[in-house]
Amino acid sequence: MLQIQENVSLKNFNTFGVEANAKYFVEINRKEELAELFLDPQWLQTKTLVLGGGSNMLLLNNFDGLVIRINIRGIEHRISHNDVYIEAGAGEVWNDLVNFCVIRDYAGLENLSLIPGSVGASPIQNIGAYGVELQDVFYSCNAFELATGSFKTFSKADCHFGYRESIFKNELRGQYIIVSVKLRLSLIPHFNLSYGAIEQELNNRHITSPTIKDVSQVVSHIRVSKLPDPSTIGNAGSFFKNPVITAGEFNLLQSIFPQVVHYPAGDGHVKLAAGWLIEQCGWKGKVVGNTGTWKNQALVLVNHGGATGQEVYTLSSQIIDSVYTKFGVTLHREVNIIS
Ligand SMILES: Cc1cc2nc3c(=O)[nH]c(=O)nc-3n(C[C@H](O)[C@H](O)[C@H](O)COP(=O)(O)OP(=O)(O)OC[C@H]3O[C@@H](n4cnc5c(N)ncnc54)[C@H](O)[C@@H]3O)c2cc1C
Repeated sequence: MLQIQENVSLKNFNTFGVEANAKYFVEINRKEELAELFLDPQWLQTKTLVLGGGSNMLLLNNFDGLVIRINIRGIEHRISHNDVYIEAGAGEVWNDLVNFCVIRDYAGLENLSLIPGSVGASPIQNIGAYGVELQDVFYSCNAFELATGSFKTFSKADCHFGYRESIFKNELRGQYIIVSVKLRLSLIPHFNLSYGAIEQELNNRHITSPTIKDVSQVVSHIRVSKLPDPSTIGNAGSFFKNPVITAGEFNLLQSIFPQVVHYPAGDGHVKLAAGWLIEQCGWKGKVVGNTGTWKNQALVLVNHGGATGQEVYTLSSQIIDSVYTKFGVTLHREVNIIS
């Protein structure tokens, strides 16, 4: 029997640690419970928020609707030749899935070690780190359609993955709840060690032929040294996406700011390091009331204690304005703003 709770604090359900209450709150442990929940027409007419680990959202206010916390568990794996098919419940913790694979020498997730959050949220923004994105290993996902009460399988092509984008953030926003994700990994590693920090740390450890475990450990080490731990200082990782501009726009920008940090983005486009742009505007490590930017990475906005979602949002708007004024480049928020 589903338990609908009322007036539940979400403070411990969002990594920013901001205070906000949910008018209604339900935890889903089996996918069939979603069909059961929406049999009651009341919920089809109510505003809903799907919640995984709350590590990519900023709650601006109390949520005047139903928060659906996904806790569907289970990991299945099947080997076929050199491929490994892994299917995990949406409520599994992403890094537990990574560890499950790393321990078994299943290759493909090692660069995505230690990303917070749930498996179910991983396709929403096509999570990525250190040159690897979910789409590189994604096979399919199964999702509940709110409007029809039925389950649908989405192939990789169906998901329209892009840089921190998918169909679930755009055309189908709010229409589906992901209940499981299937990945195709490999027994044969094809490492992506192109990020300087990975190479450097492998050198520091005198590792010349890394294993899957080595890469996972190195990535975890780099992340811990650079990013604030949400259990001690509230944050949601990178607050903004790295802006992608045309080669023409980039040439103009580089003629004024020769040091601008950038990466090729393919198709005549260039990706700028948002952290660098923000730092150049003097925001790195700045404390503004209860909020601010992280001392080691200006792209991360933090809650120094007692910050409201509105305060963090206001700071993010100020940062967007100052980057635009100095560089003529518009930053877009990566974090989901929930009002
Ligand atoms: C310290 C730190 C570091 C981070 N580093 C990275 C990084 O390197 N790369 C990266 O890509 N991200 C990073 N993130 C962001 C975050 O970890 C990912 O976006 C993650 O996938 C969010 O998972 P979650 O379960 O916490 O999602 P939530 O915050 O709970 O939800 C995020 C969005 O997805 C929706 N959603 C959640 N679950 C489902 C579901 N089952 N079905 C449908 N919609 C759903 C929510 O409604 C919301 O819109 C970082 C965050 C932190 C705090």
